[in-house]
Amino acid sequence: MLLFDTHCHLTDKTYTQKDIEFIINKLREDNIFCISMATDLEELPKLIDISKNNNVYFGFGIHPYEAYKYYPISKYENIILKAFEQHKNNNKLIFLGEVGIDLYRDEQKETKNQQIEVFEYFVYLAYKYDLPLSIHSRSAEQDVINILKKYESKKHIKAVFHCFTSSNKEILKEIIDNNWYIGLGGIITYNNKKNDYLKEIVLNVDLNNILLETDSPYLAPQPYRGKTNYPFYVKLIYEFVFNLKKIDLPIICDIILNNLKKIINSQKLTFF
Ligand SMILES: [Zn+2]
Repeated sequence: MLLFDTHCHLTDKTYTQKDIEFIINKLREDNIFCISMATDLEELPKLIDISKNNNVYFGFGIHPYEAYKYYPISKYENIILKAFEQHKNNNKLIFLGEVGIDLYRDEQKETKNQQIEVFEYFVYLAYKYDLPLSIHSRSAEQDVINILKKYESKKHIKAVFHCFTSSNKEILKEIIDNNWYIGLGGIITYNNKKNDYLKEIVLNVDLNNILLETDSPYLAPQPYRGKTNYPFYVKLIYEFVFNLKKIDLPIICDIILNNLKKIINSQKLTFF
């Protein structure tokens, strides 16, 4: 069996160099692969270095929390493009992410325009270079969808709504109808009424529309909730989906890997 954590952050400051070595050894032992997402251009050297390890791929992106540094985009797009072009042929670069819009808190609403400009530039890159987007969207799904649709009418944009938490059924339907994916992680394992709708989503959404992830070091699944999360905990997410959907684990592994192969340049997937 081959498991894939489709969204994590190995460059996060939570992890020491020793932690990273430990994680990479464990991934190899357990035949787990991961995609480590960037949150800022500054992380790229470290991220690229870590991705030299067999089980690690990476995403190129700017997290909505960092978008203010690249505003107005007209002033920064050349810097972003130059960094992208420098690395676009790296055979471990398979995603654009983490990018998106987050309007959950009031102070984030104040940076809405900045977030939208930077996100839209990445949607343009996804359109131009045919790469999938790993999208962080909190209280902003409709804004994200509207931007995706601007380009979707010209060409299919490949996108994953990472750490999907919307309880809006219309939004979910729109994502599925457009052949975008929902990324599910630790939150689906949390045992409280507030999250019950996420279990419904796991049950009712076809596995062909789902990718699994950890978002480590954040959002550790049960029984590690509140502690540091690791990409190899993705196994707990797979098992949780197995317990809910009663689909055999090897079949879940196959479907998730196939979903991924549909959106990334699968020539870059070389398993050792
Ligand atoms: Zn993330």
